[in-house]
Amino acid sequence: MSERDGTQSGVATGQDGIALRVPVAKPMPAPWHSPTRWIIACGVLLIITIAIGTAIMVAQFRDRALQSSARELSNTVLLVSRHFDQQFDDLQAVLRQAADALSGFGGNGDDRRRALASEETHALLKSKTHGFGDVTSINVYDATGKHVNSSDAWPVPRFGIEDRNYFKEHRQAVGESPTDVEVAKSRVTGSWSLIFSRRITGSNGEFLGVVTRSVTSAEIESFFASVTLGDKSSIVMYHRDGTMAARHPPGEGLIGRNFAGAPLLGLAARTGRSAGVARVKSPIDAQSRIGAVINLANHPLLIAATTTVDAALADWRHQTRSLIVAAGSSALIISAMLYLIVRHISRQHVRSRQRLALEKQRLDTAVNNMSHGLLLFDASGRLIVCNHRYLDMFGLSDDVVKPGCTLRELLMHRKTRGGFESSIDEHLGEFWTNLARGIRWQSEIEIGDSTMLFVYTPVAEGGWVTTVEDITERKRSANRIEHLAHYDALTDLPNRTLFRERLESQLANMAAGQCAVLYIDVDEFKSINDALGHPAGDELLKVLAGRLRNSVGENGFVARLGGDEFAIVQTGITRRGDVVALVNCVHEAIRWPCDCLGHQISTDASIGIAIAPGDGTDLDQLLKHADLAMYAAKSDGRRTHRLFEPVMDEKIRLRQQLEQDLRQLVNTGDFASGGFEVYYQPLVALRNDEVTGCEALLRWRHPQRGPISPGEFIPLAEDTGMIAQLGDWVLATACSEAVSWPKGVKVAVNVSPVQFRSRTLPLSVAAALGSSGLAADRLELEITEAVLIDDVGAARDALNQLRALGVRTALDDFGTGYSSLSYLQSFPFDKIKIDRCFINEIVDTDGSSSIVQAVVTIAASRRMITTAEGVETEIQRDRLRELGCTEMQGFLFSPPLPAEALRKLLLRHRIAAA
Ligand code: C2E
Ligand code: CA
Ligand code: CA
Repeated sequence: MSERDGTQSGVATGQDGIALRVPVAKPMPAPWHSPTRWIIACGVLLIITIAIGTAIMVAQFRDRALQSSARELSNTVLLVSRHFDQQFDDLQAVLRQAADALSGFGGNGDDRRRALASEETHALLKSKTHGFGDVTSINVYDATGKHVNSSDAWPVPRFGIEDRNYFKEHRQAVGESPTDVEVAKSRVTGSWSLIFSRRITGSNGEFLGVVTRSVTSAEIESFFASVTLGDKSSIVMYHRDGTMAARHPPGEGLIGRNFAGAPLLGLAARTGRSAGVARVKSPIDAQSRIGAVINLANHPLLIAATTTVDAALADWRHQTRSLIVAAGSSALIISAMLYLIVRHISRQHVRSRQRLALEKQRLDTAVNNMSHGLLLFDASGRLIVCNHRYLDMFGLSDDVVKPGCTLRELLMHRKTRGGFESSIDEHLGEFWTNLARGIRWQSEIEIGDSTMLFVYTPVAEGGWVTTVEDITERKRSANRIEHLAHYDALTDLPNRTLFRERLESQLANMAAGQCAVLYIDVDEFKSINDALGHPAGDELLKVLAGRLRNSVGENGFVARLGGDEFAIVQTGITRRGDVVALVNCVHEAIRWPCDCLGHQISTDASIGIAIAPGDGTDLDQLLKHADLAMYAAKSDGRRTHRLFEPVMDEKIRLRQQLEQDLRQLVNTGDFASGGFEVYYQPLVALRNDEVTGCEALLRWRHPQRGPISPGEFIPLAEDTGMIAQLGDWVLATACSEAVSWPKGVKVAVNVSPVQFRSRTLPLSVAAALGSSGLAADRLELEITEAVLIDDVGAARDALNQLRALGVRTALDDFGTGYSSLSYLQSFPFDKIKIDRCFINEIVDTDGSSSIVQAVVTIAASRRMITTAEGVETEIQRDRLRELGCTEMQGFLFSPPLPAEALRKLLLRHRIAAA
């Protein structure tokens, strides 16, 4: 695995147990990477921010709580101080008036002492305190400190204050002294009080005594109680000397105790008339407290209010709790959301990994099961993917061909395994040039017996894909199809298409000399095919094809145009003689008997020849002319060749005209009016020169063209199928005619193979006999050898059917076809007609006479009559007599005659015989 090049080779095991080299994509980032990580980081940051914010707020709220608590305390002390300033000012004013009034007493010391203790003074004092109630009574003490008068009770209770500090201070003072305030237990009420005192000074400045007025601590405290402060708060009034005058809430033993040195007292000394605030440790309960302190304006008193820090922060604590709950819940909600999001992403991640794995697996399967070899290279020319098929195709090892290997390494490996035949350097040079073009290209490479198609496709991101396909079979079948399209499957000769192509190019490139086209039609091939079966027919065609190819050799080529038609293009002709020589050679090759699946077959051909440029330079024209020449050869009795002549065109036209005329006659059925007439040629017994029968021979005197040879119109009628009607007409005509002849004279009628095969011949014969009234045994049917080989069984059946009718049969033209003497033994003929060609030569050569001799012998042994055809000379007749032939026919005795003339001949002959 290499992170470096961004690929990994996943090695999976295929079905066949061989490692599949399909790279794995880079692993998907774990959920802790990328988005998830960021989401979590953001969430944590948010939670931290909330925590810090909350902390800051808590701190701020704390400060604010403390501040507001301090503010509240200072406001309180300010208000309280105002209140008491006012109250004590009033109190002091009354006290001063009383002192002034008492100072005015004249007399000596005793007088003034009596005056101070008098009931009048009591009334005066009472009047001074009028309106203040009995809360703050005025008490008067004489210069010895004895209680001498009061605004309250009369007579006054007796006690002294000579021990009091304020008394001592007033007594020691020189002249007027300011009002003194002292915290002490009142000797009137017995409770802690704030005692205001003033010196009563005589007119000479002497000390007369002291007037006091006091406010009980309880009174002050009850005011403090009305100022509502919190639970843990306190309001205290101190004397500037540190003595506590009043406190709320009240505390045991606190009033009258001196707290000089307490921090708040110190603060009050520094701040003067404005309120001072400080955090202090309580000297009473040692608790941490916030305190505010203020001096009264006109009195040596100060007010202090404190509250514990705990109390000050009570609200804050509550607030903080709410804040923390809110922040905590937010953090919790955020965490929950984060958890859900991360879980969702993780699940999605797992799902997509599974999907990816599945897709990868499918891809592996696809890539490794495809029929093509596949390679994928990256932009740096290194292998990324190589499928199994590729390794198999070239027998490569996956130790070498693996991700990261270069094309050169791969090719070198292929070379060692025999899968690369050319030069690697050359191949690579060409390859890089092609790749640089950036378009897909392909090449077919032969490796051993195989053909491989390499397709190279450059990839947009750089690199390329190579696919390899084994196209050996495809190529072979394409070649086969190509071959089939141009070659004949049976003989492997070029077919008509290729023939035309080649001839065309031959004509186009014909610089000098000539070229000949030979159209070859195998005579009676159809009959052979029908008689011996297609396998034999096919075999014959193959043999002929081989022979034709040999005949032509290097001088041209042979093609099969279809069925039994072949063509030869002969090139390099300088003389006409060259063509004739080839034609003779071809004829010889075709005529040579051949063994086809056990059948000895000898055949022949009609050959038409057209020579370029004389007979045409245009392909179609040349072919048409060769075709015409071939038809001419056919029309001229087959087994021959014809060179194209311009008149052949005319002949064809005439043949078509003739066919039209004949068809018209067939349609009307009235052949006689169209110029048809049946002639009769006598057959004479060699023994006694008696006429034994006559052969009906058809003649056509065409109204415009005059006499037309049977050799011309019989093949035409056979080719077009009209021979059936024509033959029936001859049969009927001949039978009717023969009825008029002497009883011993038979009539012989020629039957075409086409008629014979139609299987309606027995019916036609029966009809002719029936309508004419001719005795069946006076009718003889002449059948050529061709019908025998068609279908031996069917031929024998047909012959037997005819014999069953009682008619006689003769084998015509014996010796010209494929017939062998064996036919004579296997077919039930009554007569054998030996062809004219043997008779011609009977006197010259020994060969012919020996054949005639053999036929005669066999015929005699099977009680067959032998008839010699075309006997023209007496020498021939004599020779035939010697050989033991039964009959003769020919011009020597009589040519074919019209019916009328024959009747006369028969009459003459009978008379002569008689
Ligand atoms: P084929 O059956 O061999 O007829 C005998 C031919 O020999 C006749 O020719 C006849 O005129 C000719 N011939 C007879 N004696 C001599 C002789 O001494 N010397 C020479 N050189 N020739 C002689 P034709 O009439 O021209 O008939 C030719 C062929 O046409 C016949 O040959 C026969 O195959 C066919 N043919 C004629 N008429 C009919 C017919 O009605 N039906 C069928 N299917 N074929 C017919
Ligand atoms: Ca005949
Ligand atoms: Ca004949």
